[in-house]
Amino acid sequence: MNLPFRVPGAEPTGKGCVDQPVLKERGQREVFCGLTGIVWLHRKIQNAFFLVVGSRTCAHLIQSAAGVMIFAEPRFATAIIDERDLAGLADIDDELDRVVNRLLDRRPDIEMLFLVGSCPSEVIKLDLKRAAQRLSKLHLPRVRVLNYSGSGIETTFTQGEDACLAALVADALPDTKPASLVVVGALSDVVEDQFNRLFSAMGIENVGFLPARKAGAMPAVGPDTRYLLAQPFLNDTARALDELGAKHIPAPFPLGANGTTAWLKAAADVFNVPSERFATATDAGHKRAEKALTAHRETLAGKSIFFFPDSQLELPLARFLYEELGMNLVEVGTPYLHRQHLHQELERLPAGTVLSEGQDVDRQLDRCRDAKPDLIVCGLGLANPLEAEGFSTKWSIELVFTPIQGYDQAGDLAGLFARPLNRQARLGGL
Ligand code: SF4
Repeated sequence: MNLPFRVPGAEPTGKGCVDQPVLKERGQREVFCGLTGIVWLHRKIQNAFFLVVGSRTCAHLIQSAAGVMIFAEPRFATAIIDERDLAGLADIDDELDRVVNRLLDRRPDIEMLFLVGSCPSEVIKLDLKRAAQRLSKLHLPRVRVLNYSGSGIETTFTQGEDACLAALVADALPDTKPASLVVVGALSDVVEDQFNRLFSAMGIENVGFLPARKAGAMPAVGPDTRYLLAQPFLNDTARALDELGAKHIPAPFPLGANGTTAWLKAAADVFNVPSERFATATDAGHKRAEKALTAHRETLAGKSIFFFPDSQLELPLARFLYEELGMNLVEVGTPYLHRQHLHQELERLPAGTVLSEGQDVDRQLDRCRDAKPDLIVCGLGLANPLEAEGFSTKWSIELVFTPIQGYDQAGDLAGLFARPLNRQARLGGL
């Protein structure tokens, strides 16, 4: 299967996959829950604390995923719901108040506390919204208490960030002068700084990032605010921003040289940045990114790739790998397909790409084995068995933990896909 690959910088010519039928599957799924988002969110918002109200399983998940050292002061913990709580023998609201009061007494550095719901707290219908409002009243102005759900019931792992940011938009944005442009989605600080410099070089002022690095520095949002999504999994957050009157700027996602340029251009057009100024601000970065991609094209061009649905980053990644590196897309699975937010990605995918939404894991594994792709992007639970069968895999969760957006990360992003193939080639040559 050798699809022609698009010359870097070329614009899409047709409607790509926009009108293409999607294979919808509603069977067994293999995904992590939304608690996983705490791993990157607690690093991003430096004075926030995430208190999971859940079971020992939740505590194990979050502790092993975040890899805490026991002598560090972590900014997340689990309030365990035990048998007495489940049996209704203890007043769980009182217990939660006690835990929160003790935590806030001991940790004066905390300015924002998230009560994070889980499967157990949802099953026993614990009202964490009411608890957050009660505790906020007690602890404001020092600490604002918010809540969201990280439960694994019918969700996927990136929805934890969406739920967290939607809670921030609904309850915790300041009502001072609204930002002109807000970039939405947790980005690593280095990527945020690079984008800030690019917007500033274009002459776009008063740019905010959601979430901000500090609880007290969240951007204000109002009807004059325009927002750019930096991540494709923020549907609830986008809806909450729309309710405040902010307007979405449609764009592809800032992955790779072309993706980053198109994302920045979408903002530049809205803010009437002259094309010469846009070119002056972005040309050097675009060229740097293209050069970094060249090094990986030899490994990746012509290779086939299969995406299992996991992070919701699958479509933008598939576009990047096809358009900028010449990979062949066997199947692109995503947990949810938000056509509006992904419209420009769909336009850039080659017509005829197999798109699937949701999962029926056994059937999908059969399709994958039949296709024998060179590389498979999937969750941790599928990666080891597939490796044991001789396939090369890439953990999709790594693509959320690693800085991959923007010009200066384009080469690293391509490298994440090239590495397993290079390793396989080396092993094959032994
Ligand atoms: S929230 Fe649910 S899926 Fe996630 S660790 Fe807890 S019990 Fe498991």
